[in-house]
Formats: sequence, C-alpha cells, structure tokens
Amino acid sequence: MKILLKKDGEKFFVRDDSRDYHTKYGFIKSADMKKGGIASTNTGTQMAVIKPSFIDLLGKISRAPQIIPRKDVGIIIAETGIGKSWKVVDAGTGSGALAFMLANIAKEVTSYEIRGDFYKIALSNKESIGLRNLKLKNKDIYLGIDEKNIDLATLDLPEPWKAIEPAGKSLKTGGFLVSYSPTVPQVMDFVSALRQNPAFVYLKAIEILEREWEVEDRKVRPMSQQIGHSGFIIFARKV
Ligand code: SAH
Repeated sequence: MKILLKKDGEKFFVRDDSRDYHTKYGFIKSADMKKGGIASTNTGTQMAVIKPSFIDLLGKISRAPQIIPRKDVGIIIAETGIGKSWKVVDAGTGSGALAFMLANIAKEVTSYEIRGDFYKIALSNKESIGLRNLKLKNKDIYLGIDEKNIDLATLDLPEPWKAIEPAGKSLKTGGFLVSYSPTVPQVMDFVSALRQNPAFVYLKAIEILEREWEVEDRKVRPMSQQIGHSGFIIFARKV
C-alpha cells in the first residue's frame, strides 16, 4: 500500500499501485508511484509518494465504539513511562485504538473485549495495521485476567472498579493501573474503590485539554470546532 500526500496535508490511500490512481486533482501513473519520491498528476498537482507509517494506518481503522483521543493516549504514555520490555493488558478493546498505540511501544499487549462484534472489528483492524505483539481476547475482563506479572493495565470500561481486583492479581509490584472514564461518577467510584484496596496506591486523576489552532495567512486563531470533552484519566500503582 502507498500513500499520496498533497502539500496541504490531504492524503490518498492507494491499495493497488500496479494501476494508475485517479484523484480529483488528476491521475498519477502506476510507474511514478512505484518510483516513489515526488510524483505529478496529469494536471500538474505534485504529491509525495510514501509508505504508510503506523499513524497513517491507525487513521484508517474501522471504528466500533468511541475511540480514545490521541491527547489522552499521550499522557498515559508519558505518565507511565511505558517501554519496549513491558507487558500490558488493556480492556475494552473497542476498535483497538489504545491497544494499537500501546503495542507500538510495548513488548506485548493483550486486550480484552466482551462483545463479539467489536472483537471482530478489532481483529480486522489489527490485520490491517500488522502488529504481531498484540493478542486480542473475546472475554469479560471483570471475570479475571490470565496474564501475570504485567507492567501496566489500561481500562476503558463502563465499570472500571470491577477490574481492580483482577488487575491487582496480575500487575507486578510497582506496575501501573490506568483508567479512562468520561464521567465524574465513574471517577468517584473508581478512586473510592482504589482507596479501599490495600494493593493499590492512588496517584492522580487528570483531564487533558487540547486546543488546535487554525493558521492560514492572517487568520490565526483557535479552531471553532474542538473536542469539548473526552475523559478523565486516573493513575494508580500496585504496592
Ligand atoms: N479504548 C478503546 C475504546 C473502548 S470503548 C479504543 O481506544 O478504541 C469500551 C469497550 O469496552 C467497548 O467496546 C465495550 O464493549 C467493552 N467492554 C465493556 N465491558 C467490558 C468487559 N467487562 N470486558 C471487556 N470489555 C468490555
């Protein structure tokens, strides 16, 4: 697969570069795509021909439920210091966005999803991204985690407090438990359950606000459409 990248950031995904590819800016010859570098359409629009990177493929996945925004994934990575030797468990998989981002860094990731239909979507997304260190399970995480001695558990679940016990049994001492929830009552119940559990120390709950700006000649200002709210992120450690 190849990507045609226009100067203004517009992207075209080319599944089959053995044939000419038609865009609204004219067509690019198959031979030019195979050469790579800068190619020109028959009407003179220049495009860079590149191999899709992880983040390009992630942008193309099929979406089942709401996926976690990148601003929130970023803080999970930064606050836990997840590294290439880490074993991670994640739930629920949903379309797999968080699991893919974690598997792009960690040694191995296992992600649990209770719904068969979402599990299948995530499996096919995994195929298209091509991550070999990610295992998907069609299982209820509240009933237990098979993996042991893990460094990090990430929860994006309606009732994350039900996964605290299983996570406690699977995390290594010093390992991180991170939960992502959109509403305040979920944060309250999760933190209160953490505080009652001697196996965990509660660290903090945070919210990340990102404001993208439009920068176009002298029209330089915050974009009028932004993510208003996504979720709160709660951090704890196994002691
Ligand atoms: N983090 C995902 C989105 C998860 S949405 C992403 O970034 O794409 C929450 C998911 O949790 C849903 O798919 C839901 O079916 C799943 N889920 C709910 N309860 C669960 C449970 N007990 N065990 C495993 N998955 C569960």
